[in-house]
Amino acid sequence: MSSGNQARATPPPTTPTRPTTVLDGCAVVTMDSQAREFRQGYVVLRGGVIEAVGAGPAPDTADLHGAERVDARGCLATPGLVNTHHHLYQWVTRGLAADAGLFEWLRTLYPVWGGIDEDSVHAAAAAGLTWLARTGCTTTMDHHYVFPRDGGDVLGAEIEAARQVGVRFLATRGSMDLGRSQGGLPPDHVVEEIGDILTASAAAIERWHDPADDAMLRIGVAPCSPFTVTGDLLREAATLARAHGVRLHTHLAETKDEQDYCAEHFGRRPVDYLEDLGWSGDDVWFAHGIHFDDADIAKLSASGSGIAHCPTSNARLGAGICRLTDLRAAGVQVGLGVDGAASNEGTSMIEETKHALLFARARGGPLELTVREALEVATIGGARVLGWEDRIGSLEVGKNADVALWRLDTIAHAGIVDPVAALVLGAAPPLERLYVAGRTVVERDVVLTIDEEEATAAAVRAHDALLRRAGLTI
Ligand code: ZN
Repeated sequence: MSSGNQARATPPPTTPTRPTTVLDGCAVVTMDSQAREFRQGYVVLRGGVIEAVGAGPAPDTADLHGAERVDARGCLATPGLVNTHHHLYQWVTRGLAADAGLFEWLRTLYPVWGGIDEDSVHAAAAAGLTWLARTGCTTTMDHHYVFPRDGGDVLGAEIEAARQVGVRFLATRGSMDLGRSQGGLPPDHVVEEIGDILTASAAAIERWHDPADDAMLRIGVAPCSPFTVTGDLLREAATLARAHGVRLHTHLAETKDEQDYCAEHFGRRPVDYLEDLGWSGDDVWFAHGIHFDDADIAKLSASGSGIAHCPTSNARLGAGICRLTDLRAAGVQVGLGVDGAASNEGTSMIEETKHALLFARARGGPLELTVREALEVATIGGARVLGWEDRIGSLEVGKNADVALWRLDTIAHAGIVDPVAALVLGAAPPLERLYVAGRTVVERDVVLTIDEEEATAAAVRAHDALLRRAGLTI
């Protein structure tokens, strides 16, 4: 091939230019290592990263003269919230088994979930991610573990939805290989063969995983839970993830039923069972982590494995309350997760933050968790759990420009003395702006990247079709 052909074959740079933005006059909570806060301050976003953050009026230097200046008086700037556990496909199966515990809830929903395909997953993910953005979330993971044989590319469908909405995304290739006939909980037609799971997981990593500093998409490996997958799959999944340098995730210690299941089938507690299969280390995080004893917590602390605390879902299913402050006191990394919308119809990260605080105090007393600690868990805590704290989770120069700007001067919050107390204890505030990599995703509670009415209609159509396919009346 001639050099001329090579030149024509090279596409022009396609990276869209990102505006330089100056947020001026807002309160700022950085969540950096010094816990710096400014009652009146500024944040400068340029080229997808935070260029400056500080107290007082924003600088007026020549290189900022072309910047978009946002009058942010009356607002609070925080790091974008980081969601560490979700199942986006469940957005189109909300409200079912509304008064059931986990195992009964799962048995009701598996037949419905068995009918999902790439269209319904795209509709669910687009709606769920739009709502997450509306509630201040700039980075979310997703744990997708239902792959019907004729469902098409369901993981690709949710990744496309994340690209459209414009949030930072850690998609995990989940799996189930332990059907009911083998002693597991899910019906046989929604489980896969272990070889197919490992091949598909490796392919997903090779196709999509981006380890770069400014990555918008990363991939993890996530067998579903001890009662839906085999020990062989857990062991092989850990080996595969480590060979590719990606993270490992699963559900753990969510209910007493799971504890009993592990005692009966493996003769061990859930944490010991997972550790024996290689599931410990700072590249591992577990969803829920409710039923831990002191020895379990000491093991997690020693290994560096993290926890996605999902207080709303845990309460909705009556599973219990995570020992959040005990975990933190032991040095275990903890973030927050909304969990799937079938067990948390709200899936709001700011609501989750409030619930984490309220549940911790309801469980342990008034000194259990401060409002700032709750916000820390929702931001830099989540970033640590996802292994992404070098790039997201705090407002620091050089980090990715992921910022939530909350309006606190309306009737709901005006007059609350402390802006962090207003954010965490008050009603969910209007979201003035949400920036991901410096791009505006939300402005005054409107998601700019997607047509919300269309996304709503598509989600309703997917919901209706799924329930019809499952033979449920609607
Ligand atoms: Zn879950």
